[in-house]
Amino acid sequence: MHTTINRNNGDLFMEDIALNDIADQFGTPCYVYSKRAIELNYDAYVAAMGDYPHLVCYAVKSNSNIAVLQTLAALGAGFDIVSIGELERVLMAGGDPNKVVFSGLAKTADEMSRALEVGIHCFNIESESELVLLNATAASLSVNAPVSIRVNPDVDAKTHPYISTGLKEDKFGIDINQALGVYERAAQMDNINLIGVDCHIGSQLTEVKPFLDAMARLLILVDQLSERDIPLAHIDIGGGLGVRYQDEQTLSVGDYMAELLPLLAQRGETLILEPGRSITANAGVLLTHVQYLKSNDHKNFAIVNAAMNDMLRPSLYQAWMDIQPISTHPDREERIYDVVGPVCESGDFLGKDRILSISEGDCLCLFSAGSYGFVMSSNYNSRPRVAEIMVAGEQVHLIRQRETLRDLVRGEQLLPVN
Ligand SMILES: *Cc1c(COP(=O)(O)O)cnc(C)c1O
Repeated sequence: MHTTINRNNGDLFMEDIALNDIADQFGTPCYVYSKRAIELNYDAYVAAMGDYPHLVCYAVKSNSNIAVLQTLAALGAGFDIVSIGELERVLMAGGDPNKVVFSGLAKTADEMSRALEVGIHCFNIESESELVLLNATAASLSVNAPVSIRVNPDVDAKTHPYISTGLKEDKFGIDINQALGVYERAAQMDNINLIGVDCHIGSQLTEVKPFLDAMARLLILVDQLSERDIPLAHIDIGGGLGVRYQDEQTLSVGDYMAELLPLLAQRGETLILEPGRSITANAGVLLTHVQYLKSNDHKNFAIVNAAMNDMLRPSLYQAWMDIQPISTHPDREERIYDVVGPVCESGDFLGKDRILSISEGDCLCLFSAGSYGFVMSSNYNSRPRVAEIMVAGEQVHLIRQRETLRDLVRGEQLLPVN
């Protein structure tokens, strides 16, 4: 994982730009992404695959800003989408529809039609009912739908239960023991073209073993299918590579591929990957100002202008994210703070028990905020969603305007008065 953030004489910089300048120019809260970091993280995947046939499909749900997608499309990336909204973003950003895989367990007929019309690479199918609907939809358009079945390999990803997806009790995919039968029935469907198999066992994985276990199970299935005259062209192992938020020992993509690719030696199926977090998380930060400091007998609170509606991860998964002042002030008294937002929920915090030397008016930087940050934001408490900014070398681009109060009520109607 690359980051392009450095502290220079006490001030944080992203690439060549002082984060102070961004806070001054655009106000806070705002998300700031490094174009260079996104590019380096994507390039690391491509480099790790070497000569092995591959397709790296960036998981759009982790950060779907069209300028982020454009940056990746320009490098030749594919995309993993979970809705038609994400497909339209990819197309707007110049992404190649033929490199798109469509995940998600509740695709509608309209979504299937649109994806068939633009010619996506593959539908990742999660149930037999979905397969039946796709077959019918493709028939009505007189086309064949390229399909992979998402299997649930029943491996423990050893991550937070909310982001573990590959156990029998999870709602995702088709039980690997049922997969053979589903493939055989799919092979009988006139407008289904079976081309692959996929899985996604969870997110923020820091060990290679669950990936290797999942791949070993997929390979057994692929071989059984090929014996039954259902040869597959690709194997999609999903995303999920973890990143460093605190001091986790993470797995580099180089080490991951060094262990995974030998399992595929002498085979030749294309390997598809669906990384999200490992491309964008450490390429982004959230800037926020300290509005007030207050203390009681037990606690010191730093009340900041960003909240759970802007960054949900700490509230939703008790995620730990690093928080530092964008300019250090060693002269200020060091205290232990809970960094909290203005939303009327006790669960609204960005960090707990952080040692900080800060005053009211200081600007703080929340690190590793480039994935599952802005995309999970909401208007809860009627708070406009924040601006997004992309740094590219010495240049700064506003890639999403801060919402206005008018945006907040767009589409709402008062009842008629009579
Ligand atoms: C969320 C998701 C990903 C991306 O996961 P990361 O942990 O961000 O790499 C990939 N594939 C599917 C099917 C997903 O749901």
